[in-house]
Amino acid sequence: MTARAGRTRLRWGGATDVGRVRTDNQDQFVARDDVGLWAVADGMGGHRGGEVASEIACDTLARVFDHHTIDGLVGAIEQANTAVYRAGAGDPELSGMGTTVVALAVVAHDDDELLALANVGDSRGYRWSGGDLDQLTTDHSLVADLVREGSLSPDEASVHPQRNILTRVLGVYEDVPVDAFAVEPRHGDRYLLCSDGLYNEVPEDRIATVLRRVADPTDAADELVRLAREGGGRDNITVVIVDVVDDGGRAESASAALAGEPTRAVPAAGGPRPSPAYADDGSAGRVVRQRRDATPAEDRYAEDDNDVEDASRQVSRRRRRLTWRVIAFILVLLAVVGGALATIQWYGGSGYFVGLDGDQVAIFKGRPGGLLWIEPKLVEVSDLDIDRVPEAPRHDIEGGKQQPSLEDARRYVANVSERADELDPPTTSTTTTAPTTTTTLAPPGLPGATPASTPA
Ligand code: MN
Repeated sequence: MTARAGRTRLRWGGATDVGRVRTDNQDQFVARDDVGLWAVADGMGGHRGGEVASEIACDTLARVFDHHTIDGLVGAIEQANTAVYRAGAGDPELSGMGTTVVALAVVAHDDDELLALANVGDSRGYRWSGGDLDQLTTDHSLVADLVREGSLSPDEASVHPQRNILTRVLGVYEDVPVDAFAVEPRHGDRYLLCSDGLYNEVPEDRIATVLRRVADPTDAADELVRLAREGGGRDNITVVIVDVVDDGGRAESASAALAGEPTRAVPAAGGPRPSPAYADDGSAGRVVRQRRDATPAEDRYAEDDNDVEDASRQVSRRRRRLTWRVIAFILVLLAVVGGALATIQWYGGSGYFVGLDGDQVAIFKGRPGGLLWIEPKLVEVSDLDIDRVPEAPRHDIEGGKQQPSLEDARRYVANVSERADELDPPTTSTTTTAPTTTTTLAPPGLPGATPASTPA
């Protein structure tokens, strides 16, 4: 499938699949090669909510995207937010439904063409270029925040039980900040839009391998879906691949002019005059667009309303709506604040880690270093002195080695203790000349790791 666009030629393929566990597919994708717009939405919400949310978002995007700029794309996503929000507010069965969205669009910029990417939530946009796969979008999720703060490693995040908690969703609030930026289309680059059902099941290096090996975008999308199912298929899986088949000679002229050009950053708007609405985040190949100045919600609703009504009726209706909205807002705010406090309390007090009580290795309940007002609680102190612990685990323990359960923490301590004994055997009366029996030690901290024996 080949897409039009002035000098840029694109080819795309997409696939969506319910997976192997869920009974319905709440994912959805848009592919409008006639206008140069692709998007993936991953809906959430009980009953039919998730399905409806992603469907409304996709339909709205496809219908309203006609202004081919970054702003036009952001505006279309904001309208999709409004559409989902209003549908949810008007139907108790659908209330609270929401959806992620990640979109790619061909946009005009200074007589040139760029590819704009925009997202809300944890559906991702990647670029595969010259063998490397880069995640271009930033996830709006709890674990992504923790990784950014440095309190979670990307590996820990990818298996974290709360990895599906989103910090931004389309359709849940009246307004939503949209991240957007633009990149230059280069011949041979492949763009991948996907829901978390893909990247939670298929490691990025395998995704990259498929993009390198399978040239046809439809075949590649099918192959990625197959791998996600093979990996467990615990969620709905959606993949859209957009290939740059012709960039109008841009790649050649650019590489001639700028051998070793470090980034592909493209000013997002305002041409030569830097616009205060945009801020370069300094990362390679992208310009992050900050949230657009909020239009007063009432004005936006007024703009969107096509109802033919006389002015006075409209005004009184709007007032009534405003009162209800204020009450609803306060209720939602209370619920959100209460929910957030409960989540923090639960999160801060849950889990175990192996740390230090003085010089002794000890097990604590809670988070290393504590979380806000929640201090870790000492559960038990082992008789292992930190000075006897080998270098690598010592470092982990000093920083607080997180463990999913008390049992795992105990196993970890036993394991480390055994390694310490091997390196520096405790003085005992038993003979040391007997041949040592081979013991296989699982690496510490691996779930399911079992020490060969438990020290007395
Ligand atoms: Mn999902």
